[in-house]
Order: sequence, then structure tokens, then C-alpha cells
Amino acid sequence: METGCSQGATDRRRRKNLLRYKRNLWAVLLIVAAAAVTFIARTPSDRNLGEPWRFGYYISAMEDAQTEIRAAMADTIDVLTSVIGDGFLGGAVRELGLGGGQYLSTCGILMDSLGWSVQQRGDTLSAIYCRGALSEVRAFPGNRRGFYSIQFENGSPVAWEYIPQERWIRQRTICCEVSSTVWDALWDSALPPDLSQSGMLLSSRDSSRAVGYVSELQHELTDRLFCYDIDFYYDVQPGDSLWLIIEENRYPGDGETGFRRILAAKYKFAYGGLAEAFPFFHRPDEAEGAEILLDHYHRDGASLRTMFLKMPVPFGRVSSPYSDARMHPVLGYTRAHRGIDYAAPLGTEIYAVGDGTITVRGWAGGYGNMIRVRHANGYETGYGHCNGFAAGQSVGSYVRQGEIIGYVGSTGLSTGPHVHFEMKRNGEYVNPAEEIVPPANPLEGPELERFLAELPVLEAQWSMMSGMELPVPEVIPVSADSTEALEE
Ligand SMILES: [Zn+2]
Repeated sequence: METGCSQGATDRRRRKNLLRYKRNLWAVLLIVAAAAVTFIARTPSDRNLGEPWRFGYYISAMEDAQTEIRAAMADTIDVLTSVIGDGFLGGAVRELGLGGGQYLSTCGILMDSLGWSVQQRGDTLSAIYCRGALSEVRAFPGNRRGFYSIQFENGSPVAWEYIPQERWIRQRTICCEVSSTVWDALWDSALPPDLSQSGMLLSSRDSSRAVGYVSELQHELTDRLFCYDIDFYYDVQPGDSLWLIIEENRYPGDGETGFRRILAAKYKFAYGGLAEAFPFFHRPDEAEGAEILLDHYHRDGASLRTMFLKMPVPFGRVSSPYSDARMHPVLGYTRAHRGIDYAAPLGTEIYAVGDGTITVRGWAGGYGNMIRVRHANGYETGYGHCNGFAAGQSVGSYVRQGEIIGYVGSTGLSTGPHVHFEMKRNGEYVNPAEEIVPPANPLEGPELERFLAELPVLEAQWSMMSGMELPVPEVIPVSADSTEALEE
């Protein structure tokens, strides 16, 4: 029928396939019955007399019947397709042959109920008609994997949903040697052979996906995983080696592969020394019933992260530091500024500086659009003057360190695009620049035991997957806690 059919496996589609199977069965039965009737209708003399049975004639008659049945079946299902031009949804829906109530409900459901608010040139729609009656409308946004589906019965919409394209997650190891930069090393040896359908970078889409893949991988490695352990500007030398276990999304429908995340990493310096990141899957205490999260730890169970990022924007300059008294630029009188302002272009991403739960997300007077996040150990952070909030979050959402929560704006009492960033500890304002940021919580107790038990298993598997013995530190680092324990 068309591509959507091979994707996803909802019950409904299975039912539809069953229907088609039944229809095929019915057709075969009809053919057999027709053959039987012709056979029986022959006069007995035909059988007994020497005249040969007209085999060719019956075969061709049967083929004719089959062709007719196929034509009749094809006639029962029609698929009309239209392409959106100039971002105009209504025109494309009309092209599918929908009018009146069906036209209005289809546009309404796609835009309001399913949230497909922005259409782009080249997005496609299709309508499936069964014996002339509309049975389903599908919309395929070009920038998403998957499609919107609206089911019709007796001409009215009865159900609608977004059907994501089936994907599977696979693990892969990467080994590479750094000769100039980490980017070059990843570009030369990290791309999966089946990144694109053809296995080569033929189109500009393939190339931009390759650049995107390496950028995401490098960002996660250098800006997130090892940002406190390795200075990728000064420490990296030719001859360094890098080993990774990564997860990839494989999209069978498109024959494409995308980067998902890094599970484990080892970075060996040519002059000696080894940085390591090991995965641990757990559920944070704060979020009961939340999804299982992946965090990375050193060999001894210490977190690779500190509790907070240095600032809530990827780049920006301090336009107004923390102070207990200053002249307010809008109000015109002296008022304490219990936060740090980072000037950044309108729309710049604002990150949650640490893991936590959103407690405020909305208009808050002079702060304009305000977000507050509650963290562990009595900390709270605030982000003011936002232009907008990140999609898919609300008060109560658990956000991770570095996750986008909003965008820089100039709402509320503000003279230009900036984010007002403030931090409280146990309800008291603190200067985020002076606050000594503790490391993120290390693994302890039963979690640490499980982590230490899993570690050798992971390393053995990793070596097997890589086809080589992976380096281990010459001296097992001893954490401060265990040193104290030894001294006691
Ligand atoms: Zn401020």
C-alpha cells in the first residue's frame, strides 16, 4: 500500500492486515470454486473420449478471473497523497478529497489535538479510502520520524495518535587514536557504516547527518562526560587513545542510524594517565516512579559531575554580578542584586545547572518568565526574564543537569536579553560564583556494591566487543573517604 504500513505494529493495523488476509483468502476460494465449477460443468464425454482436456484454456480463464478479482480488490482501497506547499495545511487536506466536516475535523485534530502546529513545505499527507469511504488520514512531517494518524468510521474521526517510527537501540564500540583533535579522530573512525541508507555520504542530507552525529558525540564526550577530568584544549596530544561504548538509534524504516548516548568511555593520554567514565543506571530518590536514569562514575563510584554547572547558558558574559546593594537600572534606586546576570543573545538556551525538580514555571512580576528548580541538599536555583520555556516540561518535571529548560529573553523588568540566575541554600540567597560547588552525589551503600560488582563484567564485555585488551589504571585511585578510613 505505502510506506506507513510497514511501520509500527498497532493492533488496529494488525486487524487491517488480517482483514486483507481474509480478503485474499476469499479471492483464492473464489478462484478454486470457479475452477471446480468449470471442471464439473464439463460433459463426461470430454473426460472419457480421446479429446484432450483444454488445459491451456482453463489456465488462461483462471488467470483472467484472478486479474478481475485483483482489479476489484484494488478498487476497494484507494490512497490519495498530497504535498504541503508554502506551509498551507488546508490546501493539502482539500487535495485529499476532504470537504465540509471532514476537512474541518482533520485540520483541527492535526493542529490542536495532535499538536502538529507548524507545517513545512514538503510535508506529505495521505488519505486511505476503503470502497470510497474515508478510513484514515496520515500526515508525515518531514522533520520527524513517524506519522500522525486519524481513523475514520462512517465518515467521522473516531481515534487519532502519533505513531513513532519503530527504532531499535544497539550498542557499538569505537576505538580511535587522536592525531590532531578529538573531532578529527571521531570524524575518521566513529561514524557507523550504516549511517545512511546507501552506506555512503552521497547527498547533502547524508553529510549534514554525519556532521550532526560527530557533533553530538563530541559534545557529550568533551562538554558533559569529561568536562571536569580533561581539558580538551590543553591536555590533548597526538598519540592519545580513546575507547567508547555508545548506544545508537537504528531506524529500520529509513535504513538510517543516529547517535543516542555514550555508555562508557576511556581516554588514555600518550604521556600516561587514564580518564574513565563508567555507566550506572538508577532512579533518583527525588523522583518516585520516574524513569531510570543513566549517570557516569569514576572507578571508585565518585560522580564525574559536580553538583552544578558554572553557568546556566552555553556562552554569555556577566553583565551584572551578585551584590548586596547596587543601583537598579530600571527602578532607578539602589537595591541588592542577589543573583548574577548573564547577557546572551535572545533565544539562547538556558540549562538547569543541576539535577532537580521544577517548582516554578510562569510569570513572576519583575522576573518576567521565571523558572525555579529545587535540587538536593537544600539548594534551589532561579532563572529569570526568559523568552520562553522548553517544550514538554511543567511544574513537577524532573530535569537533568545541562537539560534545556528555557530560552534567554528580556521579559519583566529588564533592559536587554539576559538571564538572571540566582541560587538559594536552605532558603537563603547565596552568590553562585562564590558557592563552593560540591561534587554530585557519589554512589553509596548497596548502589556502590552493585556498581563495583558490575564493573569487571562491563570491562570484560567491552574488551570482547573491541577485540582488544582495554587499558586499566596502573594505580587504582583511592578516594578521600577510604584514605581517612585507613588512617583511623
Ligand atoms: Zn538580575
